[in-house]
Amino acid sequence: MKIIAVRTKLYQWQGPVKTSDTIFATPLSPLHFQNDSQAAFRFFSWLVVEIETDEGHIGLGNAGLCPDVTKKIIDSKLTSLLIGENPLNTEYLFEKMYRSTVAYGRKGAVIAAISAVDIALWDIKGLAFGQPVFMLLGGRTKPAIETYYSRLYTRNLDDLQAEAAHYKADGFTGMKLRCGYPLTDGLEGLKKNVEMVRVVRETVGDDVNIMLEAYMGFNLPYAKQLLKALAPYNLRWAEELLLPDEIHNFAKLRQYTDIPLSGGEHEYTRYGFHDLLQTGALDIFQFDINRVGGFTEAQKICNMALTHGVEVIPHGGQMHNLHMVMSSFACPMAEYFPQTEIEVGNEMFWYIFDGEAIAENGKLQLDDTKPGMGLTLKTEGLEHFTILD
Ligand SMILES: [Mg+2]
Repeated sequence: MKIIAVRTKLYQWQGPVKTSDTIFATPLSPLHFQNDSQAAFRFFSWLVVEIETDEGHIGLGNAGLCPDVTKKIIDSKLTSLLIGENPLNTEYLFEKMYRSTVAYGRKGAVIAAISAVDIALWDIKGLAFGQPVFMLLGGRTKPAIETYYSRLYTRNLDDLQAEAAHYKADGFTGMKLRCGYPLTDGLEGLKKNVEMVRVVRETVGDDVNIMLEAYMGFNLPYAKQLLKALAPYNLRWAEELLLPDEIHNFAKLRQYTDIPLSGGEHEYTRYGFHDLLQTGALDIFQFDINRVGGFTEAQKICNMALTHGVEVIPHGGQMHNLHMVMSSFACPMAEYFPQTEIEVGNEMFWYIFDGEAIAENGKLQLDDTKPGMGLTLKTEGLEHFTILD
């Protein structure tokens, strides 16, 4: 079997965008003079890659991170490495792409581009063998996938309460809210962040897991103060409190608190996660398969994490992450971004692909009989997109 074509498509959303009081901490929010510290982290386009073989299989991969740049990297750097190769040689092809780009790659957009290709190659493998990707990765490790509801963007306490109550009633046994108040709001903002957690805890009671997302927005002193104040609320984890490069500070923070620390949503490859394990920086890894290096790299990280007692709960739902969660003992649950109006960009995949798993009673199921990733590109309802080849 040979790869005969690699096609990239940039889906750009031109339709309405919901504007609400969606405010949460970001890496820019500690800086003064920011009118909109979230602007750099909203994204309204998505990269899709199709890889075609001489036997007629078409594998589908995707990248949400920096999609215009990942498209360019695939087109100008990766495609020529792939044409004529056997797509089933996923281990070899990852190394070929990683080593060919290592001088300027290693983390970020280049690894996201390699990840999109790797997902498409595993899709081909599944289609070729007539098996779902999770069966090729290690098979079924759980009867269904437990999910946690990931939204609660508002900092209006009444709305927060109503949303939390609604999703508890829907059967979700975990939910994640965002820190609505940035570092620059000081102690007053810190108290309001704690107040948000208190309101959610009082709304859902003790039998629902609550997670708090900081999206890289704080520093070590603030994180210490915040975690101390959050002690009564029994958080399942506190997420990305610091910049991803502050591995040493995560390790310090972990010694300081009993609240489990999660991160790795913006870390890359087995090398990045090896460093996190060596320093004992985190309790939970949250890579996304479409950033970390695809299935090929994620599988290695899951195995390393398992031996260190670190859980892997991937970022962002989507089928690629769900296949990994189903097949690995390292993964106890998955994140679930519900299908909503377009708001920050995370929800865009619902508008591009058919076949994404929908949670029922807080759980997801994968089809044992559907080969590959189980996804196709939507052919209808695309009027709000421009699609660049
Ligand atoms: Mg996150």
